[in-house]
Amino acid sequence: MYLTDALARLRSILTIGLIPVALALSACGPAEEPAPPAQPPAAPPAAAAPTSVVLYEGARLILGNDSAAIENGAFAVDDGQFIAVGAAGAVSVPDNAARVDLNGMTVMPAIVDAHVHMRTTRDELIEDLTARARYGISAAISMGSDTEGTPLELRDEVIPGAARFLSAGTGITRPEPGRRVVHWIDTPEQAREAVRTEAARNVDLVKVWVDDRDGQFDKLTPELYGAVIDEAHRNNIRVAAHLFTLEDGKGLLNAGVDVFAHGVRDQDIDDEFVELVAANPNVVLIPNLPERGVATDLSWLEGSMPAAQYAALQEGNVEQAELHEAFGIQARNLARLSEAGMTVAHGTDGNTPWGPHIEMEDMVAAGMSPADVIVSATGNSAAVLGLDDLGTLEAGKSADFIVLEANPLENIANTRRIASVYLRGEEVNR
Ligand SMILES: [Zn+2]
Repeated sequence: MYLTDALARLRSILTIGLIPVALALSACGPAEEPAPPAQPPAAPPAAAAPTSVVLYEGARLILGNDSAAIENGAFAVDDGQFIAVGAAGAVSVPDNAARVDLNGMTVMPAIVDAHVHMRTTRDELIEDLTARARYGISAAISMGSDTEGTPLELRDEVIPGAARFLSAGTGITRPEPGRRVVHWIDTPEQAREAVRTEAARNVDLVKVWVDDRDGQFDKLTPELYGAVIDEAHRNNIRVAAHLFTLEDGKGLLNAGVDVFAHGVRDQDIDDEFVELVAANPNVVLIPNLPERGVATDLSWLEGSMPAAQYAALQEGNVEQAELHEAFGIQARNLARLSEAGMTVAHGTDGNTPWGPHIEMEDMVAAGMSPADVIVSATGNSAAVLGLDDLGTLEAGKSADFIVLEANPLENIANTRRIASVYLRGEEVNR
């Protein structure tokens, strides 16, 4: 019945559409004499067609890739996407496009957090994703803590005002009684079975933990993580590894790991490791630095959380000399690998929605430039997660961006001076 109705409607539309054509044809009879050229009627100025295009102009644009910032930039957004990005004056839009003056501001792509552990019920997960959006994070991946029952289908939903969700499903380790129960494996067969279970859930990455937790447990052997990596690759899924020691770092590189979810933590890396990295140029490092052990400016968080939570944060925001050594090892390792050209992405671990702003400061403290750190937290992190439409200010990408009151290329802590956040072209209610 609906089909019949639809056909009838279609037929009537076609008929109406054809009438003027038929009249026009019948007017073209055999030529008598050439008609004088028709004078265009003195029409009133044409009302421009309505447009949903918005032009943002005047800001410094940090693009999220290796290109230099555009000092006086403009970009146009339509239907949730960037449709043009360039110098002010060089981006053409319909005359009646809405205009937003961003003079004096800096715009950078929204951040992608490539290593977190969010909560796992639907409502809590949406809260965690919404909290992230307020701090300018457009996507985050839970790295191995999404056990059975976690609503992985949220990955396919667009949640207004929330970051996108990705998941490495349930990660794989040796039995670790007392710790989070994930896939506990002891044989290569179990390793492959665990990977196949995760592949059936269509996870975005497979996560392995290679760590004896200070001698408490047996850790995955090269044979076991080798089986995980091989089986994951057979299923076209990449593997992200938690690791601690330089030796395991080398073993994982030799076994074909794709992503380091942490850096080497037990000692400074050596030439052999750097050479192995060079021989495996597609491997990405998420440095995930430990706490630096210095007080930092958290005043920007005031008002964005309950007062008691803010007070507790400030209480812990003090010099902690005992953390300096561990930070120093990982900072030197990051600086050396970044210098050597390894692709560096960005992750924070745990469930701290604003964590990326602290991590970016730590990465600069480790020796990376603010420009490189911003690329790692935006373009590189989107790329490592396969988010082709995030991470850079570029025509065709999702209009996910942060408007800042100050320039983070001069001081990375300026990423905290957020004036507004936009996801999919819509301003996030902060
Ligand atoms: Zn983690």
